[in-house]
Amino acid sequence: MTATLEPTTTSVRPAWVTDAKLASWNRWVSAPVSGGEEPLTATAPYDAQPTAPVPSCTADDVAATVVRARAAQSSWAGLTVAARAEVLLRFHDLLLERQDEVIDLVQWEMGKARYHAWMEILQVANLTRHYARRAAAYLADRPVRGAMPLLTKVREVRVPRGVVGIVSPWNYPLYLGVGDAVPALLAGCSVVSKADPQTPLTMLWTRALMGEAGLPAHVWDVVAGPGAEVGTALVESADYVCFTGSTATGRIVSEAAARRLVGASLELGGKNPLLVRADADLDKAAAGTVDAVFTNTGQMCIHIERVIVHESVYAAFRDKLVAATRALAVGQSFDFSCQVGSLASAAQLEKVAAHVEDAVAKGATVLCGGRARPDLGPYVYEPTVLEGVTDDMDLCLGETFGPVVALHRVSSDDEAVALANQGSYGLSASIFSRDTRTAQALARRIRAGSVNINDGAALAAGSVEAGMGGMGDSGLGRRHGAQGIQRFTETQTIALSRMGPVGPPPGMALETFVRLGNSQLKALRRLGSR
Ligand code: NAD
Repeated sequence: MTATLEPTTTSVRPAWVTDAKLASWNRWVSAPVSGGEEPLTATAPYDAQPTAPVPSCTADDVAATVVRARAAQSSWAGLTVAARAEVLLRFHDLLLERQDEVIDLVQWEMGKARYHAWMEILQVANLTRHYARRAAAYLADRPVRGAMPLLTKVREVRVPRGVVGIVSPWNYPLYLGVGDAVPALLAGCSVVSKADPQTPLTMLWTRALMGEAGLPAHVWDVVAGPGAEVGTALVESADYVCFTGSTATGRIVSEAAARRLVGASLELGGKNPLLVRADADLDKAAAGTVDAVFTNTGQMCIHIERVIVHESVYAAFRDKLVAATRALAVGQSFDFSCQVGSLASAAQLEKVAAHVEDAVAKGATVLCGGRARPDLGPYVYEPTVLEGVTDDMDLCLGETFGPVVALHRVSSDDEAVALANQGSYGLSASIFSRDTRTAQALARRIRAGSVNINDGAALAAGSVEAGMGGMGDSGLGRRHGAQGIQRFTETQTIALSRMGPVGPPPGMALETFVRLGNSQLKALRRLGSR
C-alpha cells in the first residue's frame, strides 16, 4: 500500500505552491516498491507548522533505485561530454529564469534570509557553467610516456564510476543538493541523491527542473526518508559515495564505504578561525567578520566561529564588530529586508542556546545577542558575540553551527596560528592584514582546506575552479575544480605496443636482450630522461 499524501496549508507556504505542484514534485521521489512507509513531513522554521508530506522510501526502494540508475548510466555515459554539457547549460538557464520559485522553497523549508538563499543560485550557476565548459578538459585522456619510448603508446583515460550516491544536509539544500550532482553527471555517472528530511521539496523542485532541461529518466533519481535507514542503504549500494554533513555521520559513512571498497568524499564540519593582524584595516575586518559569522544564520560549514585578534587592535576591533552586529536586521521575511534569518529547526535553536548558556555559566561574557527571539520567529536567535571563552566550554572548539562567535586575544602571529590550529577540524580560515605577503605565508601554516585573505569566508568556496574541502576531522577529498569532477571517475591505463609483446625478439638470447636493456637504461640516465 502506498501512503496517501495530503499537503497541508500553512501560513507561510508560498501562495504559488499549489497542491498540484506538490504532487508533481513528489512524483520525482523514486517510486516506492515496498510502499506503506509513513510520508515525511518537515517543519517550516518561520511558523513551526508542517510543510508538505513527501513519500518516504525503504532500504529496498533504495536498492531498486540504484539498480535502475545503473541501467540508465551506460547510455548517458555513451553521450559526448558536449552533449551532456548541453543539458546542464539548459538547467543553468532555467534556474536563473525560475530562481524566485526555488528561493521561496529554500526559505520556506530552511528559514534563511532571502539574500542567503539567492547565494545558492549564484553558486550553482557558477559551478554549473564552469563544469559544463571545463568538463571535457578535466576528463580528457592523458598521454604518458610508455615503457619503451616510440615503440609503445600509453594513455590514462577516465572511466565513470557508475552510480554516485549523494547524501547532503539541509543547510544549503539547493547548492549541496545539486552542486555535486552536476560534475558527477558530466563525468558520465548516474546519480541517486538522498533528500534531507528537512528540505526535500527543494531537492524535488531541482530534479524536476533538470527533467525540463532534458536529463533522461533515472540518470538522476531522488530517494527520501530517515538518514539512518535511507542514507545507510544508499551508502551500501552506490558505486561511489559523496557525503556532506557532520563529522560523526561522516565517520559512519566512511567506514561503510571502506568495507565495500568503494570510494567516498566527505565534506564535514568545521570550527573556522579568522585572524585579525595588528596591521588589518579594522573596518574591512569587522565587515568581513560580520558576513563570515552570520551568513546563513551561521549554519554554513565554512562560517567563522572563532576570531583571533592581535592585542594592539583588540578593543577597537571588538567595538566595531559589536556595533556592526547590533545593526543587523534580524527576522524572517520572503523579501530582502532581513540580513539574518531564522535557524532551521528547534534542534538547531536548542544546540545554539545550550552552547551559549554553557559558555556563560563557565565565565564567558556576552557582548551582544545571547538570547532567542520568539517575538521575531519560533527559532530566531540573536547574532551573538562572546569574549572570555576558554577550552573547557563546549563552544570553544566544538562546532556551534549558529550565529555565534567568540573573540580571542593574542600577542603574536605565532600565537594566532597556534590558536587557529587548535582542535581537530581543518575546513576553512581567514586572515585580515594589509601585508598580503605575510598573510599568504601565514596561510600556509594554518591547517585548513581553504584560507581567505581579506575576505570573510566565501571567496575560496566561490572560486569554483579551486578545490574545496577539509583537513583533519573536516573531511576527505575535494569538491570544485579538477578534483571535484575527477573523483567521479577511475583512471584506466591503456598501453599499446607497436612491436608486439615486449621482450626479446625471436632468436635473440636473453643475455643479449639484458645487455641491450642495460645500455638503454644508462643512455636514458645520461639523456636526463624521466
Ligand atoms: P548530519 O550528519 O546529521 O546529516 C547529514 C545528512 O546525512 C542528512 O541528510 C542525514 O539524513 C544523513 N544521514 C544521517 N545518518 C546517516 C547515515 N547513517 N548514513 C548516511 N546518511 C545519514 O549533518 P547535519 O547536522 O544535518 O548537517 C550539518 C553538518 O554538515 C555540520 O556539521 C556542517 O558543518 C556540515 N556541513 C559540511 C559542509 C562541507 O562542505 N564541509 C557543508 C555543509 C554542511
